[in-house]
Amino acid sequence: MNMTLELWQTRAADLAIEGRAFINGAPCNAHDGATFACTSPIDGRALSQVARCGEAEVNKAVLAARRCFDSGAWRGIEPRERKKILLRWAELVRQHADELSLLETLDTGKPIADTTSVDIPSAANCISWFAEAIDKVSGEVAPASKHLLGLVTREPVGVVAAVVPWNFPALIAMWKCAPALACGNSVVLKPSEKSPLSALMFARLAVEAGLPPGALNVVTGFGDTGQALASHMDVDCIAFTGSTAVGRKIARYAAESNLKHAWLELGGKSPQIILPDCPDLERAARTVAHAVFYNTGQMCTAGSRLLVHRDIKTEFVDRVLNAARNYMPCNPLAPDTRMGSMIDASQVDRVLDFIKQGRKDATLLTGGHRVLDGSGGQYIEPTIFDCPRANIALVKEEIFGPVLSVITFDSVDEAIALANDTEYGLAASVWSADLTTAHETARQLRAGTVWVNCYEETDDMNFPFGGFKESGNGRDNSLHALDKYTELKSTIIKLK
Ligand code: NAP
Ligand code: MG
Repeated sequence: MNMTLELWQTRAADLAIEGRAFINGAPCNAHDGATFACTSPIDGRALSQVARCGEAEVNKAVLAARRCFDSGAWRGIEPRERKKILLRWAELVRQHADELSLLETLDTGKPIADTTSVDIPSAANCISWFAEAIDKVSGEVAPASKHLLGLVTREPVGVVAAVVPWNFPALIAMWKCAPALACGNSVVLKPSEKSPLSALMFARLAVEAGLPPGALNVVTGFGDTGQALASHMDVDCIAFTGSTAVGRKIARYAAESNLKHAWLELGGKSPQIILPDCPDLERAARTVAHAVFYNTGQMCTAGSRLLVHRDIKTEFVDRVLNAARNYMPCNPLAPDTRMGSMIDASQVDRVLDFIKQGRKDATLLTGGHRVLDGSGGQYIEPTIFDCPRANIALVKEEIFGPVLSVITFDSVDEAIALANDTEYGLAASVWSADLTTAHETARQLRAGTVWVNCYEETDDMNFPFGGFKESGNGRDNSLHALDKYTELKSTIIKLK
């Protein structure tokens, strides 16, 4: 069916929304009946009351996960059987893609065009990818004396807790759950309190696909719920995506409890470097705009620093300003909307604070305002500042909003120095027609992903994703993700 704004609105009005947590294969309320209100940043409408899980529910979920793990109900079945169940799960997600996309759009304010084409299909694909991989990974036979046979195998770590943010709720949840479950672990997932809805539906579909009770649990709640998981003595691994500030706490909780593995995917302040021989300035300008305004800039990889060579600055920035006009926020349920709402009022206020300070430190080139005021929603214009120097908040801090900071450079070395002058190291891009220059520059950039003459390009799940420096440790995606959710075991056999 050709979906229109009106049709999506009708569907939204008819949507039955589940707000109970999901523990041991069934929906459940908090033991004391506590809930919190989940509202939509599109227009402030109430979506659902959601269970506010505390320590009691975390304990219950971890116990269910542990029992499932110990019983072998999931861990003990053949990889190819686990694969079949995971593939069924991915298929169920695809069958419910419209409903899941709508839920995600209502919960986060992402454009429906994005949730139907990126968030939900990519989450389903992530499940299939790890399902397909898991019966094809082998262990090793280590070199050893002829009297020894040394096997190096990988075993699931046990109970994995996944604590995820609100900017890609379903997708980032699956980046953790899919590889962890494929390896045979049991998982307790804690979505952000700002976007808890899709995770609950994913868990329900997992059980429908044949995942045994306890293999995947979802506890909904706030930071204290995440803290209870990260501090739990019976959780073996915590996989976290979120801010660097909370990541630091997670590392501390892990250290102060049972020294569980703590995998941290954190923030970024990613540079996009435009060298003077940049090929196709128009395509580069559109890509630069997309890299910072997609998902209203609420992206860990947002290309929020534009480093541009002085010789082409005027022309290039004009083109970026032009491209930015395509991102004026509109109703996320309209199929042609490219930029929707921010996640909530507090995020809007945070971004407006940066803009207010930015007006003192730099020159505002476009945007800077909250818009669509009568909607009851949370909208900000695409905003661009020309920054006279690099030691200002606009250039140093992760804003997590649709704000681009332009910095001018005169040489490649200066560009590299500026690019690396950050505590973060998640992503970067460099644009040059000369592949040697581009490659030599890419080599010197301290970032987990470097794009050359593009941004956010990827191929399926094939590239490891994660950061250098304070952008975290460990990698999501690719077969490397399996390392996080397995323990290495050496079995050394003495021959005669
Ligand atoms: P956040 O505030 O760090 O929260 C992330 C998750 O941690 C949420 O589920 C949150 O729960 C929970 N949490 C908060 N305080 C906690 C505590 N003391 N102990 C345990 N858990 C706690 O991040 P966010 O605002 O949701 O997301 C934005 C950040 O995520 C940005 O910094 C962005 O760069 C980063 N990010 C990184 C990546 C990456 O892959 N590197 C990807 C996406 C986002 P509540 O929300 O319920 O409080
Ligand atoms: Mg929400």
